Amino acid sequence: MATATGLLDDLAGIGRDLTGGGYHRLAWERPTLELREWFAAEAGRRGLDVTEDGNGNQLAWWGSGDDALLIGSHLDSVRGGGAFDGPLGVASSLAAVDTLRDAGFTPSRPIVVANFTDEEGARFGVACVGSRLATGVLAPERALSLRDDDGTTLAEAMRAGGADPAAVGPADWLASIGAFVELHVEQGRALIDSGDAVGVASAIWPHGRYRLDLHGQGNHAGTTAMTDRHDPMLTYAAAVLASAAAASETARRATFGRVRVAPGSTNSIPVQVTAWLDARAESEEALAGLVDRILSDTRRAAAGHGTRAELTEESVTSAVTFDPGLRDRLATLLGAPQLPTGAGHDAGILASRVPTAMLFVRNPSGISHAPEEYAEPADCEAGVAALAEVIRELA
Ligand SMILES: [Zn+2]
Repeated sequence: MATATGLLDDLAGIGRDLTGGGYHRLAWERPTLELREWFAAEAGRRGLDVTEDGNGNQLAWWGSGDDALLIGSHLDSVRGGGAFDGPLGVASSLAAVDTLRDAGFTPSRPIVVANFTDEEGARFGVACVGSRLATGVLAPERALSLRDDDGTTLAEAMRAGGADPAAVGPADWLASIGAFVELHVEQGRALIDSGDAVGVASAIWPHGRYRLDLHGQGNHAGTTAMTDRHDPMLTYAAAVLASAAAASETARRATFGRVRVAPGSTNSIPVQVTAWLDARAESEEALAGLVDRILSDTRRAAAGHGTRAELTEESVTSAVTFDPGLRDRLATLLGAPQLPTGAGHDAGILASRVPTAMLFVRNPSGISHAPEEYAEPADCEAGVAALAEVIRELA
């Protein structure tokens, strides 16, 4: 019988940055293709029937028919990601199947282990592409024309990976799913603070991505007196500080993780700074309030700098409230605390179509999307036991 950590150990060498920079497991690149082969082989070893939809989502069926209980997660990572975000859910699902079979359990409905494609969106910029396509939330034409940093489209990447882009779109298997439970490593510190190995997700916060364009006057770095400048970099600095202050005061989240400077030369005052704001809050009103405040503080600074600030919304993902009946039932069953999260997941996409719940496994580093992401072996096994208990309860 495999353990979750044993299965993760099998994957340790795939897509690993040997300089210590974590994992690069991007959609349709060699490492994720290897991970797909691994998934199909592990499912096959267990006698599970592996199917694949036109979007690259892999499904391993224990039994067949309708009203199936879907479990699983994803195997791709961000650039420089950790070993647990995604793979822990897939490995735990396979291990939970082993646990139940060893105990002689026969499910009353089909159990399906999923490996969702391209959850992180690290290569093409849109997260949860596999589940968005399967549920019809993302139009095939739009998905296929997404480009990576090298200009390769998703369609080209799929073809290179041996998949047919013409098959992309809403998936038939969804009609056979009665519920989804995704197990995932926690991406914060709530379970460290509560002292629990496993928690149940209450909700996913709404998430917005915005582009901030700051326009100034390009000029010479040597001859232009400080008082004569219209420097958008100063306004950018003010925007970063304003966003951190506004988010900290309200326990929300605001991050500038990407910035572009024009012309981008050491001896020039920039003419324009473009930066991307990632903001998250407990409700859509709270998110709008946070972003409004960041923009008004930035505009006040811009007035002082003689620059101009424009904010463009690029995407806003609505809040996800997990099925309250299922969520409360699982929390009671497991004696586990409920916690909200600021991170998106395939479970958040499927929640609009089927009753969905998430289990989180404690991460003692409190760090995710970085090599320090971790879960203790004992907590991983507690996660498998919890998932097996959930399957017994629901199937
Ligand atoms: Zn994930």
